[in-house]
Amino acid sequence: STQEPWRPFDRSRVYMADLESALHHSLRVELAVQSVIKGDSMIALKSYISVLAKYFPGRPVVMNLLKSLNSWLKNQTVDQISYKAFKENVDNTAQVPDAALPEGVRWVGCQGSQPHFRGYPCGVWTLFHVLTVQASNTGDSDPQEVLTAMRNYIHSFFGCRYCADHFENMARESLEVVNTLPSSVLWLWSRHNRVNNRIAGDLSEDPYFPKIQWPSPEVCPSCHMLKDNGEHGWNENQVLTFLGSYFSSSRILLDYLE
Ligand code: FAD
Repeated sequence: STQEPWRPFDRSRVYMADLESALHHSLRVELAVQSVIKGDSMIALKSYISVLAKYFPGRPVVMNLLKSLNSWLKNQTVDQISYKAFKENVDNTAQVPDAALPEGVRWVGCQGSQPHFRGYPCGVWTLFHVLTVQASNTGDSDPQEVLTAMRNYIHSFFGCRYCADHFENMARESLEVVNTLPSSVLWLWSRHNRVNNRIAGDLSEDPYFPKIQWPSPEVCPSCHMLKDNGEHGWNENQVLTFLGSYFSSSRILLDYLE
C-alpha cells in the first residue's frame, strides 16, 4: 500500500499544512477539470482568488504567489481564460521572486484513518472558517464577501456535486440575512453543523472522526446551554469567541511544512 505514515497532531489546532494542501488541490487539481474558465466560473474564480489574496493568513512566499495570481487575474480583460494560462501563474513560471505554492498534499489535522476519508473536503471547510474569521478581524470588510466567494467557488468548481447542490440550497435560503462580520462567521459554523447532522453515520464518515455538533461540550463547555424548555441551545457569543480563537491566524501551527 502507498498509505503514508500517520502524522501525530493536536485535534484542537489548525495546521497550515492542511490549508496549503487544500490550496494545492483546489488550484492544481479541482480547477484543472475545466480547460476553459468563463462566464460564472470566471467570476467565481476571480472573487475566490481575491479573497485568498486578502485574507489567507499564509507564509510570505505563499502570499506573494496569491497576490501575483490575483493581479494577473484582475488584469485579464477577456471574459475567459484557459486553465493552462492560470496554471502557469500558480506554478509561477514567470518566476516572480519569493513566490510559490508548494506542490502536493500533506494532510495533518485533516488526515483520514484511510486514504479515501477526509483530506480535501476537510481542508475546504477549514480554509473557509479561517477566511471568515480573518475577514471578521479586519473589521471593515463586506460581511458577505468571503461567504459569497465560497458559495460561488463551490457552485462552479467543487468536485462533489451533490455537496455543492446542498450548499447552494442553504446559501439561497439564508445567506442574504448575513449583514455583520460576526454573523458571517456564525453562518458558516451553523451551516457546517447542519451538514454534519445530515451526514452523520454515512459511509463517507471516517469512524475515527465521527460527525458531531461542533464544538463538543468537552472542548467548549460554555458554548452549550439548556434553553428554558429544556432543549439544547448554543450560546452564540461563546461560540463566536471560541471560533475566533480556534481559527485565528496566530494559533495556526506550522508543523509538517517543507
Ligand atoms: P469536516 O466536516 O470536513 O470538518 C473539518 C474540521 O472542521 C473538523 O475536523 C472540525 O475540526 C471542524 N468542524 C467541524 N464542524 C464544524 C463547524 N460546525 N464549524 C467549524 N468547524 C467545524 N459530504 C457528504 O457526504 N454530503 C454532503 O452533502 C456534503 N456537503 C459538503 C459541502 C461542503 C461545502 C463541503 C466543503 C463538504 C461537504 N461534504 C459533504 C464533505 C463533508 O462535510 C466532510 O468535509 C467530509 O466528510 C470530511 O469530514 P471530516 O471528518 O474531515 O470533518
